Amino acid sequence: MQSGQLIPTDRRYWITAIISLFVICMLAFTVSLSTIAQKMSLPFSATYVTDSSETITGELPADITQQFPDAIWKPLINDNLGLSNDTHWIRVSLDSIKPGSQYLLEANYSLIDEIDVWVFNADVNGAIDISEPLATYSTGDMRSFDQRVIKHEQFLFPIAGDNEHMLIVLRVQSDGPIKLPIRVWQYADFISYNSAHQLFLGLFFGYMLAMALSNLFLFATTRNKIFAVYAGYVIGLALVIAALQGVGFRFFWPDSPWFQQKGLMLFACVTLALVIVFSIQVLDLKRNSPRAYLLLSIAKFIYVGVFALAFVLPYTPLLITVLIMMAITSPVILLASLYLAIQGNSIARYFSAAWLVVLFSGVVLTTENLGVYNLPLNANYLLMVGAIAETILLSLALAIRFSTQFEETERAKTLALENERQAMAAKDELLKVQEASQQDLEYRVEERTLELEIAMRELSEANQELERMSAIDPLTGLMNRRYFDKRLLAEARRSRREHRQLTLAMLDIDFFKKINDNYGHPAGDECLRVFSQLLQTHIKRPSDVICRYGGEEFVVILPATEIDGATVLMERVRDALEQTVVEFEGEKIKMTVSIGVTARVITSDDQKEGLLGFADQLLYKAKQNGRNRVIAETFDE
Ligand code: GH3
Ligand code: MG
Ligand code: MG
Repeated sequence: MQSGQLIPTDRRYWITAIISLFVICMLAFTVSLSTIAQKMSLPFSATYVTDSSETITGELPADITQQFPDAIWKPLINDNLGLSNDTHWIRVSLDSIKPGSQYLLEANYSLIDEIDVWVFNADVNGAIDISEPLATYSTGDMRSFDQRVIKHEQFLFPIAGDNEHMLIVLRVQSDGPIKLPIRVWQYADFISYNSAHQLFLGLFFGYMLAMALSNLFLFATTRNKIFAVYAGYVIGLALVIAALQGVGFRFFWPDSPWFQQKGLMLFACVTLALVIVFSIQVLDLKRNSPRAYLLLSIAKFIYVGVFALAFVLPYTPLLITVLIMMAITSPVILLASLYLAIQGNSIARYFSAAWLVVLFSGVVLTTENLGVYNLPLNANYLLMVGAIAETILLSLALAIRFSTQFEETERAKTLALENERQAMAAKDELLKVQEASQQDLEYRVEERTLELEIAMRELSEANQELERMSAIDPLTGLMNRRYFDKRLLAEARRSRREHRQLTLAMLDIDFFKKINDNYGHPAGDECLRVFSQLLQTHIKRPSDVICRYGGEEFVVILPATEIDGATVLMERVRDALEQTVVEFEGEKIKMTVSIGVTARVITSDDQKEGLLGFADQLLYKAKQNGRNRVIAETFDE
């Protein structure tokens, strides 16, 4: 998977350059601020003592000089008083005060629970009159913000210079680590420094607000939860710093010292938990590094637990827990991120850079606190610049993550579309093939049907021919006995239907045996053919049927013909035959025919056999009566 393709590489260099420039500008700003502060603030010497036995009670430190001899006062270096609940006493000696001028003492650690201040005139040796403080102040974040003599996020105490030498005694007590960066200002100098400081704070919080809002808008438009997580983280981080800087107490919860006590821890837990959620999502640790995912998920729940406990438990043990958790989770996130960065994950690269910034500022602040060196800039400022750099880098990682996700979704969409298109194309192709094969099939069926029809027609023609052939007598070409039987039935029915005469004539050639005997069988056959032609020339009505009944016997059906007409017709046939001489192989053959003619209107089916039998009887009678004659008689039975 190629990550962050939507932000091209060359543009990424630009983005990195702009970010670096912004961070460098902010860093330069803080250096200049720190330098101004160092130059403008007045020199002083400070010593402190920790009263772990709480020997001094009461409002006024009446006897601090007696209780704590000079020898046990330690110089206050690096502003760090350590992590303890004990009361700390601090003495600040000023030696170049212009009497009549207005000064300010600034204690730049807004989390101090209780801070009491006594201002004294001192002599050259630093001796003071304890009983006569010039001013006393009592404040701290366990007390309402309104009690502050100057309403400012830092603790500011006005000092009216009376004397060249002055001593300021502070009593400080707080749950949690105590830092006490003390500075003494001339009023005018502080105002000019403070305006720049406020501008820096404004820039910082403005930047954080802009980041949070833009990511909330992104969340609103994309519905991608990761933007909300990031916005939550930015707001959380801004609130942590607001609490640290005292800005929160000043502007947001001035009437609630309780929240000032709890707020920092609550915000820190939320921010750290959100950082984990954010890291898991942006780096996709669930998939990319399951072990880191498991560890961080546990850590997230611990942060949530600490958040809940923060309402009831004191600050210090929770702070230690959170610090230990951070010491575990930060390297886990950083290592997981570096591991992925090495594998070529560009999101992880920006993420690693962000965590390296965090780690770097952490290490710098810690080592500075330990007094390893003295930075030219205030630790608070460094923290804010670190937060800005980290926020920017994380937002860049987020942008890449989102664009990657967007690109992946787009790619998935394109792929799905392409698949669908292919599926559609395949379906179309299939349909086409189906259609084509359907058409082909239909064509073939048509073709086959046609062939079949042709074959059927041919077959039926052949059948008809066969039928015709089977009805024809091969020798004479007349219809045969089989056909006669069928035709007689049909004509009998028609006669019955139409009440018309059905006339039959039976013909038998006389002494045909002799012809055969005398001239031979082929001559006999020739005579039969000649007689057949003679019959056909005389009997010409389409409805008339001439059949060879068998041997030299013939039968003629004359439908709708009166017996007299039929008799005349048969007489003509007999006469014509008598006149006919058949020439066969040089022989001249003569023959005669006897004919029986009968007729009736058929009224029932069985009468046709009777009619035929009667015609035969008449034929027999004609033979009996001397042959070569026609005997006709209607059949009445
Ligand atoms: P009659 O006058 O009494 O009818 O005498 P006839 O000889 O015709 O009598 P008959 O019916 O007894 O003889 C029929 C003869 O016809 C017998 C047979 O030799 C001859 N004949 C029958 N069919 C055929 C045929 O297909 N060809 C030839 N050449 N002779 C046939
Ligand atoms: Mg015969
Ligand atoms: Mg005969």
